[in-house]
Amino acid sequence: MLTDAQLRAIDPETPFARCEAALVSPHELRVEARDAVPQIAAWLEQAMGVTFAPPATVIGCESGRVITSAGLVRAEAIFVCPGDDLTALFPDVMAEHQVTRCKLQMLRLAAPGYRMARPVMSDLGVARYEGYAALPEAAALVAQLRLEQADMIDAGVHLIAVQSADGSLVIGDSHDYGDAPDPFHHDRIDALILDEFAAVLGAAPPVIERWVGVYAASPRQNWFSREVTTDVHVTAVTCGAGMSTAFAIGERVVGAALNSAIKEIA
Ligand SMILES: Cc1cc2nc3c(=O)[nH]c(=O)nc-3n(C[C@H](O)[C@H](O)[C@H](O)COP(=O)(O)OP(=O)(O)OC[C@H]3O[C@@H](n4cnc5c(N)ncnc54)[C@H](O)[C@@H]3O)c2cc1C
Repeated sequence: MLTDAQLRAIDPETPFARCEAALVSPHELRVEARDAVPQIAAWLEQAMGVTFAPPATVIGCESGRVITSAGLVRAEAIFVCPGDDLTALFPDVMAEHQVTRCKLQMLRLAAPGYRMARPVMSDLGVARYEGYAALPEAAALVAQLRLEQADMIDAGVHLIAVQSADGSLVIGDSHDYGDAPDPFHHDRIDALILDEFAAVLGAAPPVIERWVGVYAASPRQNWFSREVTTDVHVTAVTCGAGMSTAFAIGERVVGAALNSAIKEIA
């Protein structure tokens, strides 16, 4: 934990507003998802001999067979990762794990002319992320934030600001939970995110992109993997941390399934 002066000393370029204290992590890494995803797919194909089938909709799965809109695929083991599709495949399993959806709004801002040494979050994130929010000390912070920023808490807004290689900033985000969140991009929500940005980092550069995303969410567990029938496994991350945890979860689920039978984990 650093003081305001210590923070400025290690990140002299980032235009932080004055803060009481800052938590700095040396462990954070960021990948540019837009570049990483196609590169990982190409590496899997070229170096690991993975075959990607042309896009098709999976209509059903049974032991040994996947029925798709492009025909039948036979397999000894099947791993179903339906994301936030709650109804197409194994709706009972999704319902049992209380899987619903979370809609987020995010923005990209033009390069601000400074380079941030690391991603920046505000105290709204401390009140939101389980690792901190579950601590008894967080209760006083949450109560104070509710007094000062109730509209942001109600919209599930917290600030994450990260910088891409081209200097532009990706900032977010909001959280709206429900089985059928509306598809609209609400200016009111963007304004809350931009207000929090301005409070922490000063005037926001122009917005150059806006988008809405949806992920699977559940109050019951952060993720689960279930063998729904012999050698057919359904896995879902239900807490919005699937980008960060996917490789470890994939290794654990596939390793456990192929090396010894698993019934349910997590
Ligand atoms: C705006 C936003 C920001 C996020 N930020 C972060 C972050 O900072 N860090 C982090 O760790 N995570 C983040 N996440 C969460 C992360 O993206 C998800 O947890 C992760 O994508 C889940 O991966 P998945 O493969 O299980 O599901 P998905 O990525 O949802 O993939 C499931 C795929 O299956 C396909 N599919 C479903 N049903 C069928 C069917 N019947 N037939 C054929 N295809 C089907 C879908 O079309 C989809 O392509 C964010 C998510 C969003 C939306």
